[in-house]
Amino acid sequence: MHNNAVINLKDILNEVNLITSNCKIIAVSKTFSYEQIEPLIKNGHLHFGENKVQEAIIKWTGIKKSYPNLQLHMIGKLQNNKVKLAVQLFDYIHSLDNIRLAEKISTEQKKINKNLNIFIQVNIGNESQKNGINADNLKEFYRKCVDDFDLNIVGLMCIPPHSGNVKIYFDQMAQLNKDLSLSELSMGMSSDYLEAIKCGSTYVRIGSKIFGSRAK
Ligand SMILES: *Cc1c(COP(=O)(O)O)cnc(C)c1O
Repeated sequence: MHNNAVINLKDILNEVNLITSNCKIIAVSKTFSYEQIEPLIKNGHLHFGENKVQEAIIKWTGIKKSYPNLQLHMIGKLQNNKVKLAVQLFDYIHSLDNIRLAEKISTEQKKINKNLNIFIQVNIGNESQKNGINADNLKEFYRKCVDDFDLNIVGLMCIPPHSGNVKIYFDQMAQLNKDLSLSELSMGMSSDYLEAIKCGSTYVRIGSKIFGSRAK
């Protein structure tokens, strides 16, 4: 099939498989249309990521009915008033970053008998402009999510600082994951997924390297 996104994804898969067989590629399809995503679906790709609930509902509600094995990942900031809709649509949430959100996800998913796979977002660079739990508070936050809200926390997620050596942050994330005995790690984007995988990432979130650059 001569579709650019399909070819790009194949190239990435080949690269990744040289390092590990234990990493899934989330094709980040935010801003891209169904016509641009469809070739990947037809090729059997299963994991897709979106960062806005409303956009995801419009784009994916119908597709998910036709392809029940598709796994949809919420990777962007999740507002409390969108949780009900997000819980209905998504299979994974990568951006759990506060306790009110944990409580709301718990309440909404119990109502519809769902149990989402959830990553706690960690603000690994302690950046004031970024969301996420600080490493110092992580253990307590994790315990609350599990003990008080019965959430299925599968791992940690981060978006590391732009500047500097990302490996330092990815290694710290791997250590935090190990301290909590969690099995999954969501880290690595178009610019740094190979470094992330070498540090143990099990879900990389790749957008522009598959679909091309996004309109601003
Ligand atoms: C957009 C986005 C990505 C993908 O970014 P690319 O650089 O296009 O690969 C990954 N993670 C999050 C949280 C994003 O918002």
